Amino acid sequence: MRKFIPVAEPLFEGNESKYLVDCITSGWISSVGKYVTRFEEDFAAYIGCKYGVAVHTGTAALHLALAALGIGHGDEVIIPTLTFAATANAVIYTGAKPILVDVEKDTWNIDSQLIEDKISENTKAIIPVHLYGHPCDLDKILEIAQKYNLAVIEDAAEAHGTEYKGEKVGRAGTISCFSFFGNKIITTGEGGMCLCNDTVIAEKIAKLRDHGMKKDKKYWHDEVGFNYRMTNLQAAVGVAQTERIDTFVMRKRENAQLYSSYLSDVEGLILPTEKEWAKSVFWMYSILLKKDHYRITRDDLIASLKKEGIESRPVFYPLHKMPPYKQNGLFPNAEYISVSGLSLPSSVTLKDEDIAYICKTITKYLHT
Ligand SMILES: *Cc1c(COP(=O)(O)O)cnc(C)c1O
Repeated sequence: MRKFIPVAEPLFEGNESKYLVDCITSGWISSVGKYVTRFEEDFAAYIGCKYGVAVHTGTAALHLALAALGIGHGDEVIIPTLTFAATANAVIYTGAKPILVDVEKDTWNIDSQLIEDKISENTKAIIPVHLYGHPCDLDKILEIAQKYNLAVIEDAAEAHGTEYKGEKVGRAGTISCFSFFGNKIITTGEGGMCLCNDTVIAEKIAKLRDHGMKKDKKYWHDEVGFNYRMTNLQAAVGVAQTERIDTFVMRKRENAQLYSSYLSDVEGLILPTEKEWAKSVFWMYSILLKKDHYRITRDDLIASLKKEGIESRPVFYPLHKMPPYKQNGLFPNAEYISVSGLSLPSSVTLKDEDIAYICKTITKYLHT
């Protein structure tokens, strides 16, 4: 029997253990310690932002970004309907309402052409999500945001190292949010970070992360904040992972290239695109089964692959279909992608022969 191939698996072959042991032996295991600051500085420098504020999840990063901009009850925030639920949840935590927009057929990202229609006098921000590691069309989104005086919060949870027109994503928005969950490009177990270039916003985020405590007056609170701090242990892993990030991004892109070379001749499959202005990190290599092309469904394929020791996942359900986020409107692209799409194993630990085996197995089942 072949080994099991998971959809995602972290790789710790750098200084992770060394830095963790340093935390333990020095006693700095909580959220005070040198690795937190170092991780913030290193990761912000990698993306090309002035400030990084590390928090305990990507969801917390999104929540703090919204809170720091004063978004709350009565406000509306525009997000794509095809994303992980965290994007919407963070908006709802603040009391604001997520307004859902359909995605583009090819990039699976928020369709900038549809945004203006959804803007009302209550709209305060747009959250473009760089889904599966492909960048959104940021210029268009920034243009709309400027026209209507809206903030842009980039959800870059799946896009560490992704580039838009030669620049890393996470630099263009008012604030950008990253996740370091176990299956993301780099991981700290659980973890997240807000990045920005504005001193006032960065300080506000840092304050809200720590119960709203005043920076220069210990135990004095003039607003209610959260405990969203990252531990030194998490940050120690983050520093080591950041040292290796270029290799991870390269491996992800090599995986994608290999997948595409094996699958490009398979009729009835739609492979992930990379626009000419984009550098995708292919966080999860995700494909579509053309409508009515095969006898088997997407879910059949997932089940068959599982029998062969290959884990795969359906693409996210569109938010507008699920009870907490239900919304009227037409979202044909998100619905099509969600029914027909699946994510294939995408770890940086994959061997070339694993990818060959996965593609051979897919082809076998599609043609039965
Ligand atoms: C993973 C993810 C998040 C949330 O990150 P957590 O660290 O799991 O809280 C937010 N948005 C998107 C698009 C994600 O993929």
